[in-house]
Amino acid sequence: MKYFDKELKSIDKWKDLRCDLFRNEEPEIKLVAVTTPVEEFLDKGITIETLPAFTARQSHESKGTYTDDLRLNRRLIEWGHDTPMQAVQFVYHVTGISKSLAGQWTRHKIGIGWTFRSTRYVKASSNTFVYPALEYIDSRDDVGKIYKAYEEEHRHAMDVYDRLSSNGVKNQELRRLMPVGWATSTYVYTNARSLRHFFKLRLARGAEWEIRRFAYILFNKVMEICPSLFEDLAIAYGDQKASE
Ligand SMILES: Cc1cc2nc3c(=O)[nH]c(=O)nc-3n(C[C@H](O)[C@H](O)[C@H](O)COP(=O)(O)OP(=O)(O)OC[C@H]3O[C@@H](n4cnc5c(N)ncnc54)[C@H](O)[C@@H]3O)c2cc1C
Repeated sequence: MKYFDKELKSIDKWKDLRCDLFRNEEPEIKLVAVTTPVEEFLDKGITIETLPAFTARQSHESKGTYTDDLRLNRRLIEWGHDTPMQAVQFVYHVTGISKSLAGQWTRHKIGIGWTFRSTRYVKASSNTFVYPALEYIDSRDDVGKIYKAYEEEHRHAMDVYDRLSSNGVKNQELRRLMPVGWATSTYVYTNARSLRHFFKLRLARGAEWEIRRFAYILFNKVMEICPSLFEDLAIAYGDQKASE
C-alpha cells in the first residue's frame, strides 16, 4: 500500500484477531479491464492515463507530448473540466465487502454500475462475513470478546438459514435472516470522473470506516494506472506521504 497506509493500518489494527474467525473475509479489489487506446493511438504515444488530456485537446486543436498531457490532466482537474475524465473506464472485481457497504456504495448513481452476486440465485450456505474493525477500542481482550459475539451471531444465522432451507424455504426469503455484515462480491463498471466524486465523499474522515477502508484500497489501485487523474485527492484527504 502506498497511499493512506497509516489510515488503513489504523482501521485494520485488529486484523490479526479476525483471521481465524468464523467465515471471516477481508476486502479485495482486482482490476479486470481499463479503457486502452487502440493501436493507431498507442503508436502516437497516447496512453490510458493521457487519454483525457489527449481528447480534451480537441477543444483548442492543440498538440502535446506525453508530459504535456499529464500536465494538462492536472489543469483540467484544477479548472473543473471533468468531462474528459469519462474517457477512462474501469472494471474491477470486488470481494469481501458487506451488504452494509454495498448499500452505501450503490447510492452513488452517476457513471457507475454493478453486477452483484444474487442472493436469490446463489445459496448462502458457503457465504462469508465482514467483521467490524472496532478500531476505536483499545483493549485487545475486549475486541476478542466482541468478535466472539459476532461469531456466535453469524453461526446462528447460518444454522437457521440451513435449517429453513432444508424445510423448503426459498433463498429469496432465507436471505432476510442474514445480518448486514454478510459478505458479497461484485463487478463494478465506473469511470475516472465518477471515481473522483466517490473518493471526495468516501476518503473523507467523516465517511463510515468500511467504505473509507474500501476507498483507500481502491485509491491505491487507480493510482497504479493513472496517478495524474487522482493524486490531488491524496493531498486533499490528508495522506501523509502525498503531502510530504
Ligand atoms: C458521510 C456520508 C454520510 C451519509 N449519510 C447518509 C444518510 O444518513 N442517509 C442517506 O440517505 N444517505 C447518506 N449518504 C449518502 C449521500 O446522501 C449520497 O446519496 C451519496 O453519497 C451519493 O452521492 P451523490 O448523490 O453525490 O452521488 P451520485 O449519485 O453519483 O451523483 C453525483 C453527482 O451528480 C449530481 N446528481 C446526481 N443525481 C442528481 C439528480 N437527481 N439531480 C441533480 N443532480 C444530480 C450531483 O451533483 C451529485 O453530487 C451519506 C454520504 C456520506 C458521504
